[in-house]
Amino acid sequence: MPSGNVHDTVNTVALTGYVAYSVATQQTDWLPTAVGIAVGTLWLSPDLDLKSEPYYRHGPLRVLWMPYVKIMPHRSIWSHGLIIGDLIRLMYSAAFLIPLLFLALYLKLVESSTVDSWFASMPAFIIGVMVASTIHIVLDHSSSFFRTKKKRKKRR
Ligand SMILES: [Zn+2]
Repeated sequence: MPSGNVHDTVNTVALTGYVAYSVATQQTDWLPTAVGIAVGTLWLSPDLDLKSEPYYRHGPLRVLWMPYVKIMPHRSIWSHGLIIGDLIRLMYSAAFLIPLLFLALYLKLVESSTVDSWFASMPAFIIGVMVASTIHIVLDHSSSFFRTKKKRKKRR
C-alpha cells in the first residue's frame, strides 16, 4: 500500500494537470471538480477506514469519523470500491453537513440562493471526489500487484 504522501502527491499532480488543462482550454466550470478532487484527496480519501492522515486532517471533528473507522474493514469494497465507497463517504458526510446547512439557513448565515448554487455545482464536485478516489484505488491495486510479482520473483 502506498503511503499517504504518495497518494497526496499523485493526486496533486492530477489536480494540477486538470486545472492547467482547464485554464489552457478556457473551460469555465472546472472549479467544483477541482475542489472535489482536493476534498477527495485531503479529507474524503478511501483511507478514512484507518486512523490515517485524511482522518487526522478533520481535526477535532475527526470524532465524527470514529464510527466509520470502527465499522469499515480496511480496503474493503465499502471503502475502496469504485463509486460505492464514495457514495458511502458522501452520504456519511451529508448526515452531519445537511443539519448544519439547515441551521445556517435558519440563522440566515447563508442565503438560499447561495445554497442553490452549491447544489447546482454538486454533480461536478462529486465527480471530482470520485476522480480522486479512483486514482487512490488504482494506485493501491497497482502497488499490491507489483509487490506480489516481486515476492514471486524472490521465491524462484
Ligand atoms: Zn487505500
